[in-house]
Amino acid sequence: MIKLYDTLSRKKQIFRPLSNKAVKIYACGPTVYDFAHIGNLRTYIFEDILRRTLEYNGYKIKQVMNITDVEDKIIKKAKAEKKDIFEITKPYTKIFFGDLKKLNIEKSEFYPKATEHIKEMVCLIKKLIAKGFAYRGEDGSIYFSISKFRNYGELSRLKKRELKIGVRIEADEYNKNQAQDFVLWKMAKVGEPSWPSPWGWGRPGWHIECSAMSMKYLGETLDIHTGAVDLIFPHHENEIAQSEAATGKKFVKYWLHSEHLLVNNQKMSKSLGNIFTLHDIERKSFNPLAFRYLILTTHYRSKLNFTWESLEAAQNALNKLYKIASASPRNDRAENEKRKKFYSYEVQLCKRTSDIQKYENQFLAAINDDLNMPKALVVVWQIVKDDNLVPSAKKRLLLKFDNVLGLELNKIKPLKIPQKIKRLAAQREKLRINKQFIQADALRKKIEELGYEIEDAPQGPKVLRN
Ligand code: AMP
Ligand code: ZN
Repeated sequence: MIKLYDTLSRKKQIFRPLSNKAVKIYACGPTVYDFAHIGNLRTYIFEDILRRTLEYNGYKIKQVMNITDVEDKIIKKAKAEKKDIFEITKPYTKIFFGDLKKLNIEKSEFYPKATEHIKEMVCLIKKLIAKGFAYRGEDGSIYFSISKFRNYGELSRLKKRELKIGVRIEADEYNKNQAQDFVLWKMAKVGEPSWPSPWGWGRPGWHIECSAMSMKYLGETLDIHTGAVDLIFPHHENEIAQSEAATGKKFVKYWLHSEHLLVNNQKMSKSLGNIFTLHDIERKSFNPLAFRYLILTTHYRSKLNFTWESLEAAQNALNKLYKIASASPRNDRAENEKRKKFYSYEVQLCKRTSDIQKYENQFLAAINDDLNMPKALVVVWQIVKDDNLVPSAKKRLLLKFDNVLGLELNKIKPLKIPQKIKRLAAQREKLRINKQFIQADALRKKIEELGYEIEDAPQGPKVLRN
């Protein structure tokens, strides 16, 4: 049984899919006008964990993530750089997919682009006008009338907020404390990209794209819709209004929202100028999957304050897991010999089988309890520290769990020791030969702090990852 926290009901709900076919998931994707920052990437990692957890439970998935390639911010940047919008969006879309790959995020089944679905959006807007939910403003643009939609504000519990009846807003993003009639179709402006429509040349508003594209690829009702908490209002509120007004059917069964990544306890965002990208992480010689590990250490509904120290700790933890996951049968033989002295083989085997089952149950219970990855990691570290499990049993369990963790524990690359570490190891060896043991030990400690370990073998010292 899987339980997921649904934002609309503000409760953990038992997950029951709409049908026994694939689970239909829609995730709001990137606006491709710049690099994704690691806050955005936190949200995509959360969505990947959701997908992998459902798959681990035997579900098939049909997932859509849209690519917003026409929007106010993109047009502003294109104007400033005197470029076509596609000259902005194409390279950043490519970088976005590169980031997903580095973070081992599974591919969605569809990545529709807004500019390739203008017809579907126009069709939906026509329906909304015909049903009396949308109207033409004096500026020629088409707006959604929020007062016509009875349930407007249900997702964000808007009651306390001001409902500005008849007041219109043309910007794609707007004041979170005011609900207003929002734009569906914007009249063309000079120098801006535009497409033909029954109301003249123009371009779609941001909100309508998700309703139109989710309906095209997943039908009128979805199992799960995801995004970060900043999308609850107005974006997701508007998506519900547009979709349910047009179809008369429930739009989404479960709404899942992840909390923000912070820096210095402030939301990471382009407008605050406090962002880091995956490129920054790689430049500091971290594995992108160390960032993925860091994200798993905090529940998706809690804020997470990013620091380089916490990333370093995540990298060290990940290195340890790589070491366990690379155990060979040789390690088992040595361990078994040691144990034979204490227990009979049969007693050991029996205990091991029940322990393995216990760990598998605990891991499944954690991930199925609203994707509790911090708890799942506790199980992982219990396994690592369990002296009753032989190395190959630990390895098998970790590789199985990695179907959800996604840390690529099965793809351990040959260890590349950085030049800096090699130099430190050589210096330490010299000191050791000269019997300057205090200084040699200090260097060993420094090497360990950098995530490596020296093993003194008969043929000379060997550097390993710790
Ligand atoms: P954008 O490219 O700005 O449309 O954002 C893409 C996704 O990242 C959306 O789901 C946002 O809600 C989410 N997001 C933006 N800032 C953060 C942050 N600091 N932490 C987590 N998610 C974020
Ligand atoms: Zn969306």
